[in-house]
Amino acid sequence: MNSKAVWSNWSGAHQVTPKQVLHPASTADISAAIETAISQGRKLRPIGSGHSFTGCAVAADTQLDLSRHQGVVAVNAEKKQVTLRGGTKLWQIPPLLAPLGLAMQNLGDINRQSITGAISTSTHGTGLSFGGLGSQVAGVKLIDGTGAEITIDDSDPEELDKYRVTLGTYGVISEVTLQLVDDYDLKVVERPESLDLVLGSWEHLNRNNDHFEFFWFAEADRVVTKTSTRVQPNELPRTPDRRVADFINEELIGNAAFAGLVGVGRLIPGFTGRLNSFATAAWGSSERVRNWSAGFASPRRVKFNEMEYAVPFAAVPEILRELRSQFKRRGLVSTFPLEVRAAAVDTGWLATSYGRETGYIAVHKPAHEDYREYFAVCESVFKAHSGRPHWGKMHSLTDTDLAERYDRWDAILELRNRHDPHRIFTNKYLTQVFGY
Ligand SMILES: Cc1cc2nc3c(=O)[nH]c(=O)nc-3n(C[C@H](O)[C@H](O)[C@H](O)COP(=O)(O)OP(=O)(O)OC[C@H]3O[C@@H](n4cnc5c(N)ncnc54)[C@H](O)[C@@H]3O)c2cc1C
Repeated sequence: MNSKAVWSNWSGAHQVTPKQVLHPASTADISAAIETAISQGRKLRPIGSGHSFTGCAVAADTQLDLSRHQGVVAVNAEKKQVTLRGGTKLWQIPPLLAPLGLAMQNLGDINRQSITGAISTSTHGTGLSFGGLGSQVAGVKLIDGTGAEITIDDSDPEELDKYRVTLGTYGVISEVTLQLVDDYDLKVVERPESLDLVLGSWEHLNRNNDHFEFFWFAEADRVVTKTSTRVQPNELPRTPDRRVADFINEELIGNAAFAGLVGVGRLIPGFTGRLNSFATAAWGSSERVRNWSAGFASPRRVKFNEMEYAVPFAAVPEILRELRSQFKRRGLVSTFPLEVRAAAVDTGWLATSYGRETGYIAVHKPAHEDYREYFAVCESVFKAHSGRPHWGKMHSLTDTDLAERYDRWDAILELRNRHDPHRIFTNKYLTQVFGY
């Protein structure tokens, strides 16, 4: 189908009008699209929900929109695994799993992404005992750039590690099998704390809680922590969805206050620092019990651009102290809080937490603001601590930097040569990352 419609990623930073948009509804349709691209010498890029901040999903030629390729293919109750079509959205998964009494092991802070888009960029949540979403992959079926259909499962874990996180560079994932766990609820506690106290207890807070993260407005010496404890479903009474206290914390403060800050900060920039301190203080303590998905994910309605780096877990306090002094010295201000999380060692070759316990530090700028100076200052600190960029979030690293940061880089390039010899899946961003 020809298209004149402009496609844009979530933040609006990347826009493109693909020459054609295809909507495959089966593995056979995906294979046919790839065969055509090979025979006609075209480029092709699959998209999920367009929630990446980098240009990884930008398709100038053929865009493969997987939104008609959704739902459950198979359930293996004994192994607690489910096989999903590649276009399934994360928010569609909990109701599919609920009747089975199963749940995903972990999730990030939103659920709008597609499952294959999320795993492809090494999307993660928080929790030092939990890897990224790629670690939940127990099998994939992908159609590569030669037209071959490749199926890998957990009977060969070393082979699977090559395909847990792929950036969509080896092929289009038609189906993904997830390793699930028994259903659980989360008891979520949010509370203000002192930054120094949290940095001093960073390791303790992560080793002694299932899921710990915190938000820091860069001008304030206070943070808001979010600590989530896994409990049996309905072991504690679930908090009603529309309880007023939740509405204030999640909607009014969590989103509308950000919007207010963004608007006011734009009009009177000098006020931003003071408003940020106010917002951290106003974001009071809250407790709620939710089923796993609703406990992890919240709506994010204010548009922003984001950079996030995976750094060695133990280096997080030092990095944040360094950022604090850089922000002060340069007078840098942000209307969005930094988000700081942790994850277990991952085995996926292109996982950002490959081979090391990881801390994640994310920095944001409202979509209408110039992010370049702020992100560049943060990136120089992350780089100096052997940081690896989130594949779906803004960064300036190229293949030379990345080769130093990924042990299996040469083997990854070989895999790409084998699976996509004609480079039908490439675009500007993949050329930046892989060098050609
Ligand atoms: C508000 C917001 C909150 C976020 N929160 C988090 C978070 O908590 N943690 C985190 O780690 N990240 C987070 N992200 C980043 C987001 O999870 C990733 O960028 C993710 O890749 C987006 O998924 P998507 O479905 O939109 O994929 P897209 O952005 O559409 O695509 C991502 C990549 O996957 C490829 N791809 C898509 N489908 C396939 C397929 N079937 N086969 C092969 N390749 C494919 C695309 O070509 C592209 O390279 C957030 C982003 C936003 C906008």
